[in-house]
Amino acid sequence: MEDLNPFHIAQTQFARATQFVSADAGILGSLIRPFRVTRIEFPVEMDDGTYQVFTGFRVQHNNARGPYKGGIRFHPDVSEDEVKALAAWMTWKTAVVEVPFGGAKGGVICDPKRLSVREKRAITRRYTMQLGNTIGPTVDIPAPDVYTDASTMAWIFDTYDMTHPGSNNLPVVTGKPMELGGSHGRETATARGCIVCVEEAIARGMVDGVKTMADARVVVQGFGNAGSFAAQFAHDGGAKVIGLSDSRGAIMSAAGLDPKAVLAHKQDTGSVVGFPGSSQVSATELMELECDVLIPAALENQITAENAGRIHAKLIAEAANGPTTPAADDQLFQRGVHVIPDILANGGGVTVSYYEWVQNIQDEQWEPEVVDAKLRKKMTRAFHAVFNFAAEKSIDARTAAYALAVDRVARVTAMRGIWP
Ligand code: GLU
Repeated sequence: MEDLNPFHIAQTQFARATQFVSADAGILGSLIRPFRVTRIEFPVEMDDGTYQVFTGFRVQHNNARGPYKGGIRFHPDVSEDEVKALAAWMTWKTAVVEVPFGGAKGGVICDPKRLSVREKRAITRRYTMQLGNTIGPTVDIPAPDVYTDASTMAWIFDTYDMTHPGSNNLPVVTGKPMELGGSHGRETATARGCIVCVEEAIARGMVDGVKTMADARVVVQGFGNAGSFAAQFAHDGGAKVIGLSDSRGAIMSAAGLDPKAVLAHKQDTGSVVGFPGSSQVSATELMELECDVLIPAALENQITAENAGRIHAKLIAEAANGPTTPAADDQLFQRGVHVIPDILANGGGVTVSYYEWVQNIQDEQWEPEVVDAKLRKKMTRAFHAVFNFAAEKSIDARTAAYALAVDRVARVTAMRGIWP
């Protein structure tokens, strides 16, 4: 049986890359595990007057290149090892896209679909309060992730600001609402960065028979923040979005789906399923559809040893974190299926988080075009650095991205010297 523990997977990916990095073995050894794991248990009063105890985590993997940075996830399947993997992926991601942050991640085990807004706010405030000074504008800066959003970030900011009066606390968290220190383009940034990578891959001739986005048939798994905007941007570029899914089911249409209309349908009915003119397919069938570009934009372990052989896409762009296992990576690489790895493909989110943080520190608000141009430039540069290195070494792009990232973190660690 394949080991699907995300932290073990992150460690396997790291180990594969180290042979392409010339760094001190002791320094490399310090990058395998997180610097700090915080686990908190906290009671919350629910709407019916009962008390429920929740478990939350904040894992700080590495801060050699800058303050810890990474999102907070609310999901029933959150576990310590998942958050440890996600934190490590943030370290490598910030290094791949070259923003001056380290890597961290948070998570609370809960089912947001069964929580009221008041309950979510209470969970968020209590979790933030108990993290205390382990987060802070120059220490560790949270952001949205699965089932958290700008409202959640507003509550984190407010909680931190109430307990740290008298300073500019806006940069304590990114992904905030526009009216409260948010940045233009942050909400769409993960998807925008992912689609920039897809465009560059097409321009590099990596997708057989596809010369521009307008030739591409695209499948998007997951219709949350990353997936819904990725589908929209692909559609705006002229692509045919032939398949979409959310946690409740999957749909397809050979003629193409209009992501905006699907989103409106989901807002009305709670799911993409039943969208007029589409036919329902199983989650398995969606992943295996004949298409040019597959964008996994949901959770980990979606492309595994079990189904990798049945993936028909020519290019996989990982908007999600950790969607492909190492065994699946091997199979895809042997079959010549290109994978734009998560630590590159979804790095647009944290890139615009960095821009938001800079704007907050400078008390400025940049125009949307400024943010978009900066994001494009950064993503394009990172994309070609990774694929050039992969081509040079004849290795898969994930290993190449890791090697560049690990090298950057190891170098800075050596430069600073080990404390004391
Ligand atoms: N949660 C997002 C990610 O996985 C964004 C992190 C951030 O902006 O700090 O990359």
